[in-house]
Amino acid sequence: MILKACTVLGVSPEAGPVEWKRAYRRLAMRWHPDRNDHPEATERFKEISAAYECLIAVDAPEDEKTEAAPDAAPEEAQARAADIRLNLAISLEEAAAGCRQTITYTRGKACPTCAGSGEAGMSRTRFCEACHGSGRTHDAQRKLVSCTACGGRGFFTERICPDCHGSGRETADVNIEIVVPPGMLSGDELRLAGQGEPGDEQLAAGDLYLTVVLTSHRLYRLDGRDIHYRMPVGALVLLAGGDIELPTPAGTLVHTLDAGSTDAREIRIPGKGYPGRGNKQAGDLVVTLDAIFPAKLSPRQRKLLIQAHQDMLDSIDDSLPPVADWQDSHGLR
Ligand SMILES: [Zn+2]
Ligand SMILES: [Zn+2]
Repeated sequence: MILKACTVLGVSPEAGPVEWKRAYRRLAMRWHPDRNDHPEATERFKEISAAYECLIAVDAPEDEKTEAAPDAAPEEAQARAADIRLNLAISLEEAAAGCRQTITYTRGKACPTCAGSGEAGMSRTRFCEACHGSGRTHDAQRKLVSCTACGGRGFFTERICPDCHGSGRETADVNIEIVVPPGMLSGDELRLAGQGEPGDEQLAAGDLYLTVVLTSHRLYRLDGRDIHYRMPVGALVLLAGGDIELPTPAGTLVHTLDAGSTDAREIRIPGKGYPGRGNKQAGDLVVTLDAIFPAKLSPRQRKLLIQAHQDMLDSIDDSLPPVADWQDSHGLR
């Protein structure tokens, strides 16, 4: 784990915290998603931050272990309020084409009345229910012991802030409109700088991270950026060849089938699946066609098919070779 973190940062385990930090800052500057358009930048930046956190967590004495690496951009010397992470559920079509979304979420800052403590104003006394106010309870051996719930005092003093009802936070629902660029997949992340928990004199605002979640689709199944589905088509168009209409996220695509057999067949149309993004190419459209034989024939359809059959009998060697062979081998022709 430490060795892996060192490899990510390109430092030796012996280098020590100063060198680690220098390496981390240098790499984080280069890979911060705000500064680097590379599609892997977010992933790479996370990896670098995680590696650094791992190293300093191992190095730090026990009581400092909670101090994680700053996940702010390293050029920001100012401390930041917390980031907010939310899922953004959108349909496959919306994600493929890109879309605008209005999202509503709650963010807050320390309550100004109680400065975030949740306690303010007049104190209020509440009797301890565990010991009924006596400060003592019976233990398992039925010995009288000091009540652990109230520390033996028999009551609690509460000073609940009237403005935040003790939560210490003043929250507000916010609506923001966001633009989702085309071609994002489930798990891809959008970062909205400064839309996390609000800042104050000491803290810059945190960031809002939205993780894209594609809602399941009735037809399309994604495999990477390839889109797969099965589609029933009339057996005669599979046999004779001709145009069929294929749904795609970008609209209907007309595809010309070669004449062939009525066996189920898979067609793959390069680049017509899920759109690309960054250096990721668009996926393919992969459709499995199932032949459907006519359920019921109208008199006209029946007549046309019999005509086609008759025509095939006239060129039986080409059209129906096994039938011709059978007739030959039994002296019927
Ligand atoms: Zn008590
Ligand atoms: Zn308050």
